[in-house]
Amino acid sequence: MTTIVTSVQAIRTRLTKACIQAGRPVDGVTLLAVSKTRSADAVRAAHACGLSRFGENYVQEALDKIDALADLRDRLEWHLIGPLQSNKTRAIAAAVDWVHSIDRLKIAQRLSEQRPPHLRPLQVCLQVNISGEASKSGLAPDEVLAVAEQVAALPRLQLRGLMSIPEPADTPQARRQPHRALRELLDTLKARPALARLDTLSMGMSDDLEEAVLEGSTLVRVGTALFGARG
Ligand SMILES: *Cc1c(COP(=O)(O)O)cnc(C)c1O
Repeated sequence: MTTIVTSVQAIRTRLTKACIQAGRPVDGVTLLAVSKTRSADAVRAAHACGLSRFGENYVQEALDKIDALADLRDRLEWHLIGPLQSNKTRAIAAAVDWVHSIDRLKIAQRLSEQRPPHLRPLQVCLQVNISGEASKSGLAPDEVLAVAEQVAALPRLQLRGLMSIPEPADTPQARRQPHRALRELLDTLKARPALARLDTLSMGMSDDLEEAVLEGSTLVRVGTALFGARG
């Protein structure tokens, strides 16, 4: 059986190789361990292997796990990467460090109003429906600029960049295409003075992290390649 130590090493090796191939600094990509459906103990074990950033999809599961790991709170960074409904923003604003899945202005406004004053601003990304799938959540690419300018002006949020979940594709070339499109969209935003400091492209998962790094990903979200198949 592959242990978490082995898989962390394997992922770091894949990231390093991809960075070298891309001609990028080898420490330029943050590894977010996607811990949805995993137990608090599995997160503890991953933390013992040197991981400190964890991504969760489901609000209640995230809140419960963050609570169960309260003793490690200062050493962990928690990211919400799944859908967020209006009635859950208050709890999330108090519990996590990052939200990647902002897909409408109203959610951002609520998070800004509800972020407790003693915490640093909530770090956020806008989720973009880069593959244009009718069923997927996320802003349409042509909506992103207007929303980004408004989110960037909210006092208790810090807009960091863009996130996407492209549809799976069979060839490396096909996997790169949506990552390239997201990077180009970020470049367009950064041409605006108010958005010049955006620095995050949250893209790439277990099956496409190389393609994402080649296209400029700064943060990959990896679940199954770290923890094994989800049951
Ligand atoms: C589950 C999930 C991941 C991780 O996917 P793997 O294929 O298990 O690496 C990344 N991002 C989001 C938004 C997810 O829901």
